Amino acid sequence: MSILKIAQMGHPVLRQQCEKINPEEITEFAVQQLIRNMLETMIEYNGVGLAAPQVHNPVQLALVGGETDEEGKQILRVIINPEITVIGDEKFGMYEGCLSVPGLRGYVERPSHILVSAYDEKGDKYELELEGFPAVVMQHECDHLQGKLYIDRITDTTKLAFEDEAARFLPVDLTTDDEEGASD
Ligand code: ZN
Repeated sequence: MSILKIAQMGHPVLRQQCEKINPEEITEFAVQQLIRNMLETMIEYNGVGLAAPQVHNPVQLALVGGETDEEGKQILRVIINPEITVIGDEKFGMYEGCLSVPGLRGYVERPSHILVSAYDEKGDKYELELEGFPAVVMQHECDHLQGKLYIDRITDTTKLAFEDEAARFLPVDLTTDDEEGASD
């Protein structure tokens, strides 16, 4: 396995529409190796999610965390060629961070309740309903696959801040490893 270099904001790979992966190729070596290397990279940089374009590979694949099971254990999903359907009109807002936009936090509001359909790492199609924080992480990663960054969705730029200042002045606790301190 390898730790991959993370593309930083300004690199064009973060701004392109990513290619779909042929579902029949998901179980082949190239895709499986990319998933393994992305997992190692995400763990190394303490991300809650990671999209393939962030490691200079513009295909529709991402790792998405943020969910926990009944015992509080983290669930990590692999999503390939995802499609999101918004359920209802409730919004969920939080300070987001991104490994491709290091050092910054910005307040973004997104739909709170979504349905995702995607292929998993075995090439099986699945559907998943998410609400709140896990729904935010999912939408953040799916945005990456469309060439979008969370900063594009900030409507109030007074709520964009450097991490240190955010920790001092904004109502978000970045000192702990909680949800709002996470980057993806
Ligand atoms: Zn990101």
